[in-house]
Amino acid sequence: MGGDGVIDERPWVEAARHASENLSFIPRRFQVGGRLQIADSPAVRSTIFPSCVLCGGLITNNDATLEHPLPQWLHRMAGNVSENRVEVFNSDEHKQPTWRQLCLVSHRSCNAKFARKIEDPVISPIKRLTAGGRVTWTEIDAIFDWLDKIKSASSLMGAALDGHSVQLGYYETSFPNFRIGAFDRLAIFFRVTDNVIPLDLLDFLNRSFLSTPSAMLIRIKDLMIVYVSNNFLLSSTFGLAVGTADGGFMRYIPGTGLFAAGLGARRSRLPTAKIIAQPMRRQHQKQGLSDAGPALQPNGDGRVFELCGSRWHRVRSTDFSNLVRINSSIGYVLAGLEVIEWLILCKEQDFARYGLDDAYFMKSLPNLRQEKIDLLDELSQLRGGIRPDVNDRF
Ligand SMILES: [Zn+2]
Repeated sequence: MGGDGVIDERPWVEAARHASENLSFIPRRFQVGGRLQIADSPAVRSTIFPSCVLCGGLITNNDATLEHPLPQWLHRMAGNVSENRVEVFNSDEHKQPTWRQLCLVSHRSCNAKFARKIEDPVISPIKRLTAGGRVTWTEIDAIFDWLDKIKSASSLMGAALDGHSVQLGYYETSFPNFRIGAFDRLAIFFRVTDNVIPLDLLDFLNRSFLSTPSAMLIRIKDLMIVYVSNNFLLSSTFGLAVGTADGGFMRYIPGTGLFAAGLGARRSRLPTAKIIAQPMRRQHQKQGLSDAGPALQPNGDGRVFELCGSRWHRVRSTDFSNLVRINSSIGYVLAGLEVIEWLILCKEQDFARYGLDDAYFMKSLPNLRQEKIDLLDELSQLRGGIRPDVNDRF
């Protein structure tokens, strides 16, 4: 989508609260569907209308339906898991929802447009990919759009299921509508050895993710996908322009056009996995940033590349028949480490660009670093005492 928006109408957001409250940002309330009883924090109880999880606009009439961030066709594909309890919520049996119950209120028209433009095009490619077949680069592009949607919608779902205990400021690109295709993205694919868990989504309840929703893990059958997306994420990978803070203003530094040997900013914990990346700069071009290079198409959307060894190869089509298969326990730890280290990197890069000293999204950094150490310990145990390098950076 290149970040141009899935729906055309500008959503109406101004009437979330009474104007007399004079708030620094428009507060949002996302309403969980089904029969889940979530006690919302006092901070959002005076929010007059709930927000649509797809466009961010207010839902003011009966034109509402329920949007499943992980769609129902995927529940069926993974093995009819709609009525299965979601593993992520293992702390409280009574509140543990089913996959079908993981849904949020959206506009009916948004839901229909997202189904047509984002869901329908990927159903066949996702089935083929999961089964080990071949997909084209345009299908990868569509799958990345779909993963963008899952990732941004899941962070809103996390906020809702958490009862909005944290009040976050949201921008247009916080919502799937303008977030899809707006920023650079990459995915890491591998398989695990067990078939016990048919569907998984980690870790959308983690506060470090809610404040910087840039990396997640999704599992479909035995297929694991670490998905990462953020503004300027692949600048060092493909020699593209980067934005830096300069006396309170953002300044663009043009890229060299040279591709890195490997990911660029960091080393992957999963070097034998299949790694596919696509820079996205259409919105930068519209803002007048003259970014060009072999990684970009003329409209600013990126070409699709696969990492083979340490070199990037342009993808016209690629097959998933020979994905590396990793012991499930080790696979989860490695994927978890990837997610955490990408989150740390994204927070640090975001902070360097537009962080204020009290930036809320940085407050979870100590927790993230501790989670990383815990996972490294676990990995060391699983591997008979061989301790991996703490440093993932070049
Ligand atoms: Zn909407």
